[in-house]
Amino acid sequence: MNQHLLRQIPKVDDLLQNNAVLALLEQHPRCIVVEAIREALEQFRQAILQGALQEFPQQAMIEHIQTGVITRSQRHLKRVINGTGIIVHTNLGRSNLSQKAIEAVVETAGHYSNLEYDLQEGQRGSRYSHVKSLLCELLGCEDALVVNNNAAAVLLVLSTLGKGKEAIVSRGELVEIGGSFRIPDVMQQGGCVLKEVGTTNRTHLRDYEHALTENTAMILKVHTSNYRIVGFTKSVSLQDLKTLAVKAGVPLVEDMGSGLLIKLTPYSLSDEPTVQESLAAGVDVITFSGDKLLGGPQVGIIVGKKPYIESMKKHPLNRALRIDKMTLAALEATLMHYRDDNDALTAIPTLRAIAVSLPELYSKAERFLALLHDAAIPAEMIATTSQVGGGALPVQELSSYGIALTLPGYSPNQLEETLRKGTPPVIGRIVKDVYLLDVRTLEEEEFAMIVTRLKRLGFPGRDISRDSDL
Ligand SMILES: *Cc1c(COP(=O)(O)O)cnc(C)c1O
Repeated sequence: MNQHLLRQIPKVDDLLQNNAVLALLEQHPRCIVVEAIREALEQFRQAILQGALQEFPQQAMIEHIQTGVITRSQRHLKRVINGTGIIVHTNLGRSNLSQKAIEAVVETAGHYSNLEYDLQEGQRGSRYSHVKSLLCELLGCEDALVVNNNAAAVLLVLSTLGKGKEAIVSRGELVEIGGSFRIPDVMQQGGCVLKEVGTTNRTHLRDYEHALTENTAMILKVHTSNYRIVGFTKSVSLQDLKTLAVKAGVPLVEDMGSGLLIKLTPYSLSDEPTVQESLAAGVDVITFSGDKLLGGPQVGIIVGKKPYIESMKKHPLNRALRIDKMTLAALEATLMHYRDDNDALTAIPTLRAIAVSLPELYSKAERFLALLHDAAIPAEMIATTSQVGGGALPVQELSSYGIALTLPGYSPNQLEETLRKGTPPVIGRIVKDVYLLDVRTLEEEEFAMIVTRLKRLGFPGRDISRDSDL
């Protein structure tokens, strides 16, 4: 039986003469068509060997090849629709850029620029000059440097200021961020010796004091971005650490994680420290991410006292960690919004998603619901909670509205999988056995895209027999 079916498997060359495949060859490079054929042949061969087929499905094979070609001709990195309600979603690309930042990227990517050219002097310039003065103007710091991401920023600071010496850190702050960024490991990479002080829940000023030696390079404060220690806790204020650092003659360094420049307390979030507050407390060197709460491109920003930043600029690692022109363009445009808090809160998508009011979310959900009902798709609005994400404000929830989709014939898990796998992929959440799309992270134009995808699904009450996306 198997032998009989195996003999029916066509040869690659024969398939290349098939009319449907010839049509594919007119639209797509030959190499991907051949690859899709080979993969399809192998799949069907395996299915026959496992006894899963009773007869050779010629038509299914052609469809498999067509799908294979289409998948291969699409970019692998593609847009997805974020219905999770997690604003800075690390797996979905963290922050979206503002319109002005996007325009800056497009212009810089397609044209020559003064990236490293001083137009006044007509000679070589520095790529960092474009954002340095803007950062100093916004934050009131002496100097600034930008590298590839915040992990790189921390590594550069430790390598420059701490190599062969000790950095004192509280045991309550030995953070691990997703993707294996762990403070003790980064220290080791930077050639810096970790001197842990205090306990997990309580660290006192005297713990830091007792750890100081002539080999101390810095006192390091790390923001516990993605967790909170609650209950019987104690940590030492930046002011007290600063006084101690001055007495010891070492810099006070802070890894803030998120780059918060505007207070978010008016938006029902707890009082997170801003970069300006840390600078005002006298912190000598601060590092933070560009694509978390700052809402810009992926970068690591280092701000603080000039002599320290100068020495980092000269460190060989700096060249290896430098940012490209598109990132720089996006960062400059993002930072310019911060000259006016209102501009930042409306133009920067991450901040806008945090600042949007509950009534606004309600009307947004109503508009989505109306489109769904027009298309006869069963859906209802329910109250839900969103999260800031990105390891920022981990225990806080923002009230929001979600659209619960209950399609007959689809379990929540099946719906989740179907919407995730099609084009454009829609990523939702299952809450209490209901499939849910949180409108906070959906863009208005995405409502119609989701409706189109749902309309293509076959379910009782809709006269469509198969999902052409699958
Ligand atoms: C997120 C974070 C990092 C890593 O920043 P990336 O921009 O992801 O490299 C480092 N430290 C803290 C405290 C963080 O929150």
